[in-house]
Amino acid sequence: MSQYDVVVIGAGPGGYIAAIRAAQLGFKTACIDAGKNKAGDAPALGGTCLNVGCIPSKALLQSSENFHAASHDFAEHGIEVDVKNFDAAKMIARKDEIVTKLTGGIGFLFKKNKVDSLHGKGSLKGQNGDAWQIEVDNNGDKQTVEAKQVIIATGSVPRPLPLISIDNINVLDNEGALNLEAVPQKLGVIGSGVIGLEMGSVWKRLGADVTILEAAPAFMAAADQQIAREALKIFTKEQGLKIELGVEISAVSQDKNGVTVNYKLKDAEHSATFDKLIVAIGRIPNTQGLNAAEVGLEIDERGYIKVDADCRTNLPNVWAIGDVVRGPMLAHKASDEGVAVAERIAGQKPHLDFNTIPWVIYTHPEIAWVGKTEEQLKADGVNYKKGQSGFGANGRALGLGMAQGTVKVLADAETDRILGVHMIGPMASELIAEAVMAMEFKASSEDIGRIVHAHPTLSEVLHEAALAADKRALHG
Ligand SMILES: Cc1cc2nc3c(=O)[nH]c(=O)nc-3n(C[C@H](O)[C@H](O)[C@H](O)COP(=O)(O)OP(=O)(O)OC[C@H]3O[C@@H](n4cnc5c(N)ncnc54)[C@H](O)[C@@H]3O)c2cc1C
Repeated sequence: MSQYDVVVIGAGPGGYIAAIRAAQLGFKTACIDAGKNKAGDAPALGGTCLNVGCIPSKALLQSSENFHAASHDFAEHGIEVDVKNFDAAKMIARKDEIVTKLTGGIGFLFKKNKVDSLHGKGSLKGQNGDAWQIEVDNNGDKQTVEAKQVIIATGSVPRPLPLISIDNINVLDNEGALNLEAVPQKLGVIGSGVIGLEMGSVWKRLGADVTILEAAPAFMAAADQQIAREALKIFTKEQGLKIELGVEISAVSQDKNGVTVNYKLKDAEHSATFDKLIVAIGRIPNTQGLNAAEVGLEIDERGYIKVDADCRTNLPNVWAIGDVVRGPMLAHKASDEGVAVAERIAGQKPHLDFNTIPWVIYTHPEIAWVGKTEEQLKADGVNYKKGQSGFGANGRALGLGMAQGTVKVLADAETDRILGVHMIGPMASELIAEAVMAMEFKASSEDIGRIVHAHPTLSEVLHEAALAADKRALHG
């Protein structure tokens, strides 16, 4: 029986990073993963993120943005193109190539760092002295390994809609939504979360008539509501996405005409038929097959593995990280928890501040934020000040043809310490890094205002918003 210092179950961004860091710290490490490639005929590392999440969705976003630019924006640059056709199958093939390249890269990193990669389903069998026994089941071909420390990183799966099952032909989850080989005429999306908005935007830009149905009465409830209102206006009025809020879905059915959704909105009954329906109502932690109940691993009432602030479970030397535990379901949160746990096992004292984890929605324009929203500050009774600036008069944004959006800096009214930064605009996903860095170093808005920002860059909008918070706006 192979014996390890550390065995990680799951090779998503949480698990594979935890395994590499553990190996770097000198531990004999193995990572067990059951993931398969799109064809289902070979193992594929990287979990949801690399195979059916972050990476493929961003590949499709870029293809759809290029198509939209060629069809609508090139003309004003004096570029005349005759956009005749969109080859969705080719777009999907390009996306698949990126996925294959990156998932293969993890195998290379495992070899380089001497992490043993074991393919199959991992389950906890019990303890032999202090060591944990873990069974690896590769389609009935079983082996058992032993580990002094176990890190569970089994991620999440799509939340099912009780009214209809996913067939990934007409009723799609994220996997199906990333593999449509033709643009549907009418696309329905249930859920206006990150996945629903990103997928809805992709297929809208490619020509689909998209309707998003959302149960919550507020749009993007987790975001700062000023930014959410601006986003809703752009997505609906300018981009033509139909977004219905406060919807109560009563039935979903399929026949030869398509997928019909019956729903109640403002006390009236509605019915809409779509060629394809994406169900994106969130994700649930994945603890299936871990043998949790038998070994006494505690799961909370929402299905997450119970952990303390340091990712320790109730079992000795068993840790859990990423989507399978509390906190935001984000790849970078999973990875950073993975690093922190490996370092804790090595006796180090790493710290992960949940308040400075950035959030990004890759719509067009992008939305990003870090720290507290105005709504949270008001609810907490914090005395704050704010400064904001727009991309409308920013030279770089105008040159890019993306002069739309706002950056808002929220700072403590007395100390000027930055409490939150919220933005909608071009490359917000990249710009937010400066705000994260500033908050990690406990910067004030004056600090950002006094730092030289290159000209002409998009970052000048954050600079100006920080100056505005400090009542020193130069262009306001
Ligand atoms: C469409 C979409 C877009 C997204 N976009 C973004 C984005 O832009 N940015 C972002 O930060 N996040 C994004 N996410 C979320 C992100 O993918 C997750 O937060 C992240 O993948 C979580 O990482 P993880 O390591 O916890 O789990 P996962 O990535 O889910 O990996 C878990 C792995 O464990 C394996 N596994 C499960 N059970 C077992 C078992 N018993 N034995 C062996 N292996 C097992 C699974 O096969 C899988 O490979 C997106 C998600 C989706 C669906």
